[in-house]
Amino acid sequence: MSKITIAIDGFSSTGKSTVAKQLAKHLGYVYVDSGAMYRAVTYYAMQNGLISKDGFNVEGLISQLDNIQISFKFNDNLGFAEVYLNGENIEKAIRTLEVSGFVSQVAAISEVRAKLVEQQQKMGAEKGVVMDGRDIGTVVFPDADLKLFMTATAEKRAIRRYDELIERGDEVLYEDVLKNVQERDRIDSTREDSPLVKAEDAIEIDNSNLSLQEQYDKLLDIVKKTLEKTK
Ligand code: C5P
Repeated sequence: MSKITIAIDGFSSTGKSTVAKQLAKHLGYVYVDSGAMYRAVTYYAMQNGLISKDGFNVEGLISQLDNIQISFKFNDNLGFAEVYLNGENIEKAIRTLEVSGFVSQVAAISEVRAKLVEQQQKMGAEKGVVMDGRDIGTVVFPDADLKLFMTATAEKRAIRRYDELIERGDEVLYEDVLKNVQERDRIDSTREDSPLVKAEDAIEIDNSNLSLQEQYDKLLDIVKKTLEKTK
């Protein structure tokens, strides 16, 4: 059976990566978390004094983009690929609320997007890929065989993200997580370069009231129908 490209876009914390990982595992496809790449660039900027309490040195970051090497390495125990920045595993370090607080500003920079989109397109060149993000169906793979657009209420999404952060031991307030989710939605949807919009041919899934199992079953059904069509 020929392999397809699956693009999953949507607002912050809509559970895109959870279902993308499940689908990739089921299909034997590569899963790429494009948000992790924007988070990796943000983490680099924070580690190198380009984002600090004095502000954000955008020009400095642009001039150092060639120093930033992002890669993914499959972790057999976790069952998905972890993200590395210049050889260092940063999978856990990029999931903090601090990184979340700056990532949308970093992702609005065209030079950053151009670099990451090029790498994403190379990773998906052979098809057999499930990639999630904000512009996958519109910019990275406009010809993707299947495009999904995930939504859920901001409150539901903030609860899910809050639970995740608490579970890993971070001390955060629900109100701060909700504010971050809403602020990222705002910046991601209104930026000039590749704003978050639903591709015309994307299938919208509101998972506010779906369990993980219900969501997976529903999407797997859609994937199977797409595979039938593209046989
Ligand atoms: O998916 P995740 O929430 O980890 O993404 C972090 C941020 O990276 C998003 O809020 C968005 O600003 C940016 N992003 C993007 N384009 C993508 C993926 C993520 O602009 N394809």
